[in-house]
Amino acid sequence: MSLFQEDFVASSAAMRVRFGVGSRHAVGEEMERMGLARALILTTPQQAATGAEFAERLGAKAVGVFSGAAMHTPVAISEEAAAKALEMRADCVVAVGGGSTTGLGKAIALRTDLPQIVVPTTYAGSEATAILGQTEDGRKTTITTPKVQPEVILYDAELVRSLPVGMTVTSALNAMAHAAEGLYAQNRSPISTLMAVEGLRAFRDALPRVVANPDDLRARGETLYGAWLCGTVLGQVGMALHHKLCHTLGGSFDLPHAETHSVILPHAIAYNEGAAADLLAPVAEIFGGPTPGAALHRFAQQMKAPLALRDLGLAEADLDRAADIATQNPDWNPRPVERSAVRRLLQAAWAGEAPAV
Ligand code: NAD
Repeated sequence: MSLFQEDFVASSAAMRVRFGVGSRHAVGEEMERMGLARALILTTPQQAATGAEFAERLGAKAVGVFSGAAMHTPVAISEEAAAKALEMRADCVVAVGGGSTTGLGKAIALRTDLPQIVVPTTYAGSEATAILGQTEDGRKTTITTPKVQPEVILYDAELVRSLPVGMTVTSALNAMAHAAEGLYAQNRSPISTLMAVEGLRAFRDALPRVVANPDDLRARGETLYGAWLCGTVLGQVGMALHHKLCHTLGGSFDLPHAETHSVILPHAIAYNEGAAADLLAPVAEIFGGPTPGAALHRFAQQMKAPLALRDLGLAEADLDRAADIATQNPDWNPRPVERSAVRRLLQAAWAGEAPAV
């Protein structure tokens, strides 16, 4: 099928991507290329040992390690880390981790304009976007600005090898959601669609191999390739009902990020498949049909992904409020966002049932 569109605008950010096993060792070389000499390394507390390894390898080019990155980028932590970066006279940040750590690097860049080198260890895709979500006083806000777009990404399959299989699967489905929603985005282009289709194909081919053998570096590399493509789609086009539902469930009910994306994806795609049948046809094709939502549900089942919101800790009594929040100020969506239909979607996702259209 041709991806030609009669009208489109395609813009992509200027960023350098380096791919390959061992590419994490090129941080120093990348710093030299940009004339940088003093890196502040960022990780979560859980990945502090990885941060220490980076600092050791960088030697005098590392001025410190800040291992306080946390989910949803709390403003207080960002301000503490930005102050540390200035105090240590860092001239760049090196974020080693998943979306939470990348978010901290972006939050520092927003406050200091320091360049960012990101070394992703999950498939979340934040490294490929100019989007930053932050939380303060329990409220999550999102901004999009070129100031937070990372300059360099180093994708090294050896770093995702340590991602436990359960997190590997949910993180992959989180990435796939960017591509699936990118297919029907109003501001899509032939290029974003090409990347979305190739990203979904990469996960379809490689994720089962990673689940079967988490040490398969070639398959791990192919999933990272998928993550890059899906993240780039997220950075280029607008998202719709799926992301709105996940933000509602994460922001107002504290559900875990990647797991929530995993559960909601087949349901949100099924909700939209009648209104965007041609655009979603590649999903059914890639994952073996019969419909895009059903095909994604079967793939998630085969990968042993979580299938029910109740298993993530959401109470059935919260579904009404979730439907209210998710349908207030709706983003553009191919099918109108109707409260009663969204409430039915949430019921099926809560119970872990196959998606109903
Ligand atoms: P995460 O970064 O919160 O990581 C979850 C946990 O897994 C952490 O404890 C982390 O240390 C650990 N971990 C990460 N990689 C590991 C590895 N290889 N081995 C072992 N443990 C590892 O999770 P995430 O799903 O990558 O990111 C979620 C956050 O990213 C959310 O806050 C979300 O809003 C944000 N996000 C932002 C964007 C954007 O464009 N702004 C895009 C996607 C996600």
